[in-house]
Amino acid sequence: MKSIKLCQFGNPILRQVARHLTHEEIKSSEIQRLITDMRDLNEVKKYGVGLAAPQIGVGVAVSVIGIKPTPNHPEFKPIEMVIINPQYQGVGRRTGLWEGCQSAGTGNNTLYGKALRYRHIRAQWVDEFCQRHDEELTGFVAHVFQHESDHLQGILFVDRVRDTQTYMLANEYRHHILKNKS
Ligand code: ZN
Repeated sequence: MKSIKLCQFGNPILRQVARHLTHEEIKSSEIQRLITDMRDLNEVKKYGVGLAAPQIGVGVAVSVIGIKPTPNHPEFKPIEMVIINPQYQGVGRRTGLWEGCQSAGTGNNTLYGKALRYRHIRAQWVDEFCQRHDEELTGFVAHVFQHESDHLQGILFVDRVRDTQTYMLANEYRHHILKNKS
């Protein structure tokens, strides 16, 4: 895999609406290569559970969800999805859920905050084989879907944080929040 740099908060591409792809484009070797690169990059990032194309500087509506056990959450069960042209509608109310972003700092300086998220969504997307999906998602995968789908609308998790006093850097998050969860 060639070395790919992650775009960080402040890079204008993270605030742009990503372009939807046609089925022809999804089948192209260029987009299939992009999906492989994104999966590989997310896989090697210790804390990564998803990645959107704009985060690597490509303004197309492709995200990967790659949930795996992480140092913060060793209990996570692996889930892999490619979500192209995604949309979602919330079911019920939103609650504050902790999250960070691979574009919001690195390592111990990654920013975390409590973002308002639906625990239950109805989601539509196209996968890497051009199959359409319309499914109800709940739990952590629903949370990640909202974060990765938002990226493709130019929306960052900080836009979903209501209680700004929850902002903290990774080290403090692990120390104060995760420690008290277990
Ligand atoms: Zn993110």
